Amino acid sequence: MERARRGEVTSAMERVAARENRDPEFVREAVAEGRAVIPNNHAHDALDPMVIGRAFATKVNANIGNSETTSGREEELEKLHAAVHYGADTVMDLSTGDELDATREANVAHSPVPVGTVPIYEAVKRAESAEAITRELLLDVIEKQARQGVDYMTVHAGILMEHLPLTDGRKTGIVSRGGSILAQWMEENGSQNPLYANFEAICEIFAEHDVTVSLGDGLRPGCVADASDEAQFAELDTLGDLTRTAWDHGVQVMVEGPGHVPMDDIAENVERQQAVCDGAPFYVLGPLVTDVAPGYDHITSAIGATEAARAGAAMLCYVTPKEHLGLPEPEDVRDGLAAYRIAAHAADVANDLPGARDWDDALSEARYEFDWRRQFDLALDPERARSYHDQTLPGDNYKEARFCSMCGAEFCSMRIDQDARDADGEMASIAGSEGTDLDASPAASVNLPPVGAHDTSRVPERIEVEGVTFTPETTDDD
Ligand code: SF4
Repeated sequence: MERARRGEVTSAMERVAARENRDPEFVREAVAEGRAVIPNNHAHDALDPMVIGRAFATKVNANIGNSETTSGREEELEKLHAAVHYGADTVMDLSTGDELDATREANVAHSPVPVGTVPIYEAVKRAESAEAITRELLLDVIEKQARQGVDYMTVHAGILMEHLPLTDGRKTGIVSRGGSILAQWMEENGSQNPLYANFEAICEIFAEHDVTVSLGDGLRPGCVADASDEAQFAELDTLGDLTRTAWDHGVQVMVEGPGHVPMDDIAENVERQQAVCDGAPFYVLGPLVTDVAPGYDHITSAIGATEAARAGAAMLCYVTPKEHLGLPEPEDVRDGLAAYRIAAHAADVANDLPGARDWDDALSEARYEFDWRRQFDLALDPERARSYHDQTLPGDNYKEARFCSMCGAEFCSMRIDQDARDADGEMASIAGSEGTDLDASPAASVNLPPVGAHDTSRVPERIEVEGVTFTPETTDDD
């Protein structure tokens, strides 16, 4: 941020500009003014820099991480691999189980996308209880994670003692893990949130390592009944003040948002954050627009995420089908990411980002031309599209067919329409016209297939962490 303010276009800004199809000066200006962030710790060697900001394509974060009951180091790398493969723009390692350092170091070493963490989780493990966390321990954890190469950290510095009574009438109280830990600390110790009290010292660490701060929403609503209440907005006002404090230290800032919000409240929530936090990128979890569908919350939340991104949210934190029920497996990561890539892309099309619709147009043309192979190649998840088609029409000859098993040959409406247009001589001009040329599209790379097109050339083939060697599985299109 300091270099952007001095008018310098860094190599990370150049790379981001190329990926977004924007002028490097456009990127520099957005970073200098705090409207965009490039999370890029100096120590994260494998990173392919990316940008988060409302003027750019909407980004998607995938949460990974172990818990006390499930998942080991190898499984975590598998989840990282799945997240990057299915198009995550960033990942958050939310581990709270064993081997926290080794898991984090392996993730950073192997990740071409920015890695985020929530350092209060490690602090509470090391202190063995929330109330025993000290200032020294907090700063020690944050500094160590910064040295390990973490690109952005969530700090719940905006939840204050005076906010806690405001949650008394809530249906589901405080549902953020970080928020509940800090509320317990404040109640037991009778003093102000230590992340708030030591925020300037934390900013100095972040500035030194170029860690982006993600201001956590510890009082986010945990159900639609609690949305947009006094507690949530009191914390948001504090996040606005903290945004300006971090900027004073040259630290890049994004602000986290809810949670569970009914559809008709979402745009107002986004506009309020943008006004209170002077345009700092908004990073929203979902939001879920209804509470009635455990097992399908990747859908309830992707609906809200689309609306949030349409209204100006810059990054969407994915929710998997396991939300509220259990720790996600790699297949849940895939389903959650598909839902969120759709939300992000749908919002970019609606917001008329340069070239955003070209992907849709290219796929629609392939569909109408019965070019099944091209349709699969252009699909958000080509493997799934191909396998669903193969389930009923597996033969190679069906990849030339002018129908699929949905309506069958006789009732295929597109075939009937083509035949009618053929009779009128219209098809010849359609066949002769030029289709959408994705190579010439002005779209950002995240708005073009394949999803997850990161430069992985700096990701090492083998990683050694604490004497254990990993050779993560990769494929050419990772
Ligand atoms: S059969 Fe129906 S679903 Fe299949 S290609 Fe034709 S119109 Fe589309």
